[in-house]
Amino acid sequence: HILDDFTNRDFEQIVLCRDPEAGLESVIAVHDTTLGPSLGGVRMRAYPTRADAVADAMNLAQAMTYKAALAGVALGGGKSVINVDPRVANRDEILVAHAKYIASLGGRYIPGVDMGTSVRDLELIGRHVPVASSQRGDPSYFTARGVVRSIEVALEAADRAVAGARVAIQGLGNVGLHAARMLAQAGAQVFGADIDPQRVRRAVDEIDLVAVDLDDVLLADVDVVAPCAGGGVIDERVVAGLRASILVGAANNMLSHDALARDLRERNIIHVPDFVANAGGLLAVEAEIHDAEDGLTERVDAIADTARDILARSASTQADTVSVALAMAREVVENKRKHRPYF
Ligand code: NAD
Repeated sequence: HILDDFTNRDFEQIVLCRDPEAGLESVIAVHDTTLGPSLGGVRMRAYPTRADAVADAMNLAQAMTYKAALAGVALGGGKSVINVDPRVANRDEILVAHAKYIASLGGRYIPGVDMGTSVRDLELIGRHVPVASSQRGDPSYFTARGVVRSIEVALEAADRAVAGARVAIQGLGNVGLHAARMLAQAGAQVFGADIDPQRVRRAVDEIDLVAVDLDDVLLADVDVVAPCAGGGVIDERVVAGLRASILVGAANNMLSHDALARDLRERNIIHVPDFVANAGGLLAVEAEIHDAEDGLTERVDAIADTARDILARSASTQADTVSVALAMAREVVENKRKHRPYF
């Protein structure tokens, strides 16, 4: 099954890692290094099966390639997942064992923070690998900023503005709360839900967020739905039941499969793909790696231009926004591949 997946998809390298002494079982997926060394977070999570862990690493790595291509970032797409519950007792030992496998790739994969890992974890990994990112702090403000720019563009396409718009956010964590703050400041009415009641309370106290039921947030009667929690939350049922006319958020791979983008288009729901809207964090990480913080805010705000271009091409070709964005990203990678010097 894994071999089939590898054969049928355009991956450069998949590394399955195991260290029984440490209790490590992990996957490193390097999708494409045409634009630069592959970069992507280290996700720590107990998966139902090993195949689920491999599939998640591959899907997330592929999305990183396209995210970098469309954001103009000179990095490739990679991701790694450690198949263990993040609350495991010998966490550090497992992280170091994983780091040694990362080091064996000689810099082809640059790790960063992801679900289940922290800046501290990356500091630990960083002691064992050639380059690690996410050590200067949390990039989620920049991720949220790009999401908000994309929401503005989607509202503009619907002849609306942020002021007065109703936005429902699923997940009030690092990205969701930053986005909620920015939207409230710009005059939107912000609704939200989180499985962690403390996070809801914090947002209610700080920005007068209207708390909604966990089960209702994606189907709320609002103008914009912004998924900022886990992936795969937008499935057939949600697409059919969406009352918002705009779907833009931070959650990676939020559509449970790409074909749903066509259904969104048929329902006239304006959708900026996640790998376009949430590239602000990657831009921040690139600035960290290349020591080039100057102009970062402007580069994140330029996500609006890409989002606008994608919506315009989708409107003129009738193709859904995910297909349009993927075609644009693949073109960037292919152009670079043609012109890169032989090595
Ligand atoms: P986070 O863990 O800080 O926040 C996620 C929040 O969602 C948490 O508060 C959690 O309690 C909540 N949550 C989980 N399941 C939920 C559910 N079913 N309903 C409602 N709330 C739920 O993560 P984050 O860094 O804010 O990232 C959010 C999403 O954005 C993730 O999908 C991540 O992959 C993606 N993303 C983040 C960044 C970044 O810079 N942090 C960059 C790109 C993409």
